[in-house]
Amino acid sequence: MQIANNTIVEIHYTLKNDAGETLDTSDGREPLAFLQGSGGIISGLETALEGKSPGDKLDVVVEPKDGYGEHQQAAVQQVPMSAFQGIENLQVGMQLQAQTERGTVPVMVTAIEDETVTIDANHALAGVRLHFAVCVENVREASAEEIAHGHVH
Ligand code: ZN
Repeated sequence: MQIANNTIVEIHYTLKNDAGETLDTSDGREPLAFLQGSGGIISGLETALEGKSPGDKLDVVVEPKDGYGEHQQAAVQQVPMSAFQGIENLQVGMQLQAQTERGTVPVMVTAIEDETVTIDANHALAGVRLHFAVCVENVREASAEEIAHGHVH
């Protein structure tokens, strides 16, 4: 069966950046399962998988706009150190939950100076060109319930 909208797809994948560093892989885990056409995975990968069948292997390069978006400078903010009282071992690379007008958003600490801390609310992979090596493991029709819910059961 071929991958099309409203099929349940299982893939194994390895994700690398331009430098060839592995960012994520399903190696040693269950395959990633998703409902094609539901936006459950990034659009660039969904598009590349359209029409593929079990056993197919493909290498896909996904530009940021079809992946996790461009890096938005507006999502980078400098916050006074005093706002971080009570957080132990504050360090670069730490993930925090920030309270904003839009609710709680995950942010990463990207710099620490004497009086200010820089936090970045961009997705960790925003602005990154993604190199996927994918193997299609299984394709089946989604149930009516899965289509209604928009996810795999
Ligand atoms: Zn459900």
